[in-house]
Amino acid sequence: RGIKKYFPIHKGLLSRVVGQVKAVDDVSLAIHQGETFGLVGESGCGKSTLGRVILRLQGATEGEVVYQGQDIHSLRGPKLRKLREEMQIIFQDPFGSLNPRFLVKDIIGEPLRVHRNLSPKQVDARVVELMELVGLDASRRNRYPHEFSGGQRQRIGIARAIALNPKFIVADEAVSALDVSVQSQVINLLMKLQRELGLTFLFIAHGLNVVRHISDRVGVMYLGKLVEVGETETLFASPLHPYTAALLSAIPKPVPGRKQERIVLQGDVPSPANPPSGCRFHTRCPFAQELCSKVEPQLVEAVPGRQVACHFPLQPGAMLS
Ligand code: SF4
Ligand code: MG
Repeated sequence: RGIKKYFPIHKGLLSRVVGQVKAVDDVSLAIHQGETFGLVGESGCGKSTLGRVILRLQGATEGEVVYQGQDIHSLRGPKLRKLREEMQIIFQDPFGSLNPRFLVKDIIGEPLRVHRNLSPKQVDARVVELMELVGLDASRRNRYPHEFSGGQRQRIGIARAIALNPKFIVADEAVSALDVSVQSQVINLLMKLQRELGLTFLFIAHGLNVVRHISDRVGVMYLGKLVEVGETETLFASPLHPYTAALLSAIPKPVPGRKQERIVLQGDVPSPANPPSGCRFHTRCPFAQELCSKVEPQLVEAVPGRQVACHFPLQPGAMLS
């Protein structure tokens, strides 16, 4: 609720603070138990920072993260320890996030050794179970990460993330570094684990096509703000925010006999240290009017279950022609 995460910009020998990057700027959203919430936006829009604040890997400048009725940033001691077990992250880079000098069994078994009072034999049995659960050959547990393919390494990261029976997982660009065919295998694995283990996911990606299959609902971020939220299929069929429509235009969608209206984005993403006035998207929006540079649009419910932050949202169905 009302999450802000600002980073100071330092300059010079004395490290004077000369400004701040508003990486996340007043974002409120709800993630329901058992769902996958897809969070998309171009790089630098604040989605990873928001994911890290939600996991309390980073503090918030303002706002609160409520998990099962408690503000997680106020938790201490055993309650914080339990939260650390229940909330896990799967990282973007299956190459960089696994320690190359550790055997796979030690990588997957590490959270068990830290958080559980298990004998080496019990840890080994659980590692075998976890590797089988994520579709890896457990007889290879005495090998090093570099002996596995990119997709297999991502499975190792997933096995480690589910080792402590978490309830909530942030997958931050978890499949972005993988080939398209391997991406869909890993997405199918995550969906299987969700069904079998009752997980809730925040699934972060820069492209909408990646989140479509796995997400129940999708949120779109632009320059630290949430600009649209909706159920996946309705959002794809009929985006209301021009930025969502532009992201969708980038997805090739060959429909015979139909013309797709393409919205092409002009220019680069402005700096989050100095975001445009009013609607932050107005410098690139093909529908911008005078009001847009002056007044910031709030995220409001446009139709039931659908939120949009735009003074002149697209008409439902506008993209279907
Ligand atoms: Fe475009 Fe204006 Fe809507 Fe912003 S508020 S997205 S500039 S039409
Ligand atoms: Mg990121």
